[in-house]
Amino acid sequence: MLTEMPRIGFGLWKIPQEDTAASVVDAVRAGYRHFDSAADYANEAETGRGLANVIAEGLVKREELWITSKLWNTFHAPEHVEEACRKTLGDLRLDYLDLYLIHFPIALEYVPIEARYPPEWLHDPDAAEPVMKPAPVPLHQTWAAMEALVEQGLVKRIGVCNYNSALIHDLMSYARIKPAMLQIEAHPYLTQEKLIRCARVYGIDVTAFSPLGAQSYFELGMADAGESLLGAAPVLVAAQSHGRTPAQVLLRWGVQRGTAVIPKTSKPERMRENLDFDGFELSAAEMAAISALNQNRRFNDPGVFAEAAFGAFHPIYD
Ligand code: NAP
Repeated sequence: MLTEMPRIGFGLWKIPQEDTAASVVDAVRAGYRHFDSAADYANEAETGRGLANVIAEGLVKREELWITSKLWNTFHAPEHVEEACRKTLGDLRLDYLDLYLIHFPIALEYVPIEARYPPEWLHDPDAAEPVMKPAPVPLHQTWAAMEALVEQGLVKRIGVCNYNSALIHDLMSYARIKPAMLQIEAHPYLTQEKLIRCARVYGIDVTAFSPLGAQSYFELGMADAGESLLGAAPVLVAAQSHGRTPAQVLLRWGVQRGTAVIPKTSKPERMRENLDFDGFELSAAEMAAISALNQNRRFNDPGVFAEAAFGAFHPIYD
């Protein structure tokens, strides 16, 4: 486990650009010290403004923060990895990242930063028939370029997101610098027990994204109203018995099973609510009842959304 990394971080996906700098300042004031960013979230420059503000105001020092960012799919070719990392560092106004992750095990054709940034999934959204264009870049080449970032001092640690166990075994066979982190979707409807255990066997820490389950996906039309975990019986029962909110129970469950959690919210009162999951412990029976909700329900699946949104069938988990 990465003991230097706060077990709860602040997720930055889908925070609108105009709100991001203020959200970062509010989050630091609430007590967050770990931020989960990505080039693809289209708000790194605004995140950087917020970070510069809190550091300039003396609220926090750079070395007290943990900043994670992610390499986007169009920058997998080894000659583009450093360029992508330096763009992120410039936007975030930082001279190093605590952790840099490969965002998806999906390589897409390069799009120059001057042409469009962030490049997103479609190669050219203005084309008559826009397409997603996979690029023939093996993941081991991308990893070697990630290792070079560590050697140059641009990032302290490197890791991956959205890898399955087969990709982890493969990565461990060639990594000179071992992955420090696996970031994956995990919540009680997608408990990922084998994958988490596989990472642990290799000494790789795990961060759970979308720790509140369906909540993030309603606005994208990727979850049905009935799929909310906030009203699931074992979550409600535990919330009532500990005098906590369902969100706090979900975050507590995630941390108690050994993963870090990175909830996102745009609301200052929820920032505080989500941070306050420490002063109670779920019993073994409560943990088991919540884990038994598992139905292998993945909300964030390129094998589904890439086809629905970009007309490209690109499964990676099946
Ligand atoms: P999440 O944090 O589980 O859920 C966010 C949603 O829950 C938002 O709609 C938020 O609404 C709501 N919410 C937050 N706190 C709440 C509370 N206390 N009570 C009720 N509702 C609450 O989902 P996520 O944003 O998908 O995941 C978290 C972070 O993980 C992301 O921001 C991103 O940094 C990272 N992530 C990484 C990947 C990857 O591929 N590596 C993929 C997805 C996400 P309001 O904002 O209105 O409060």
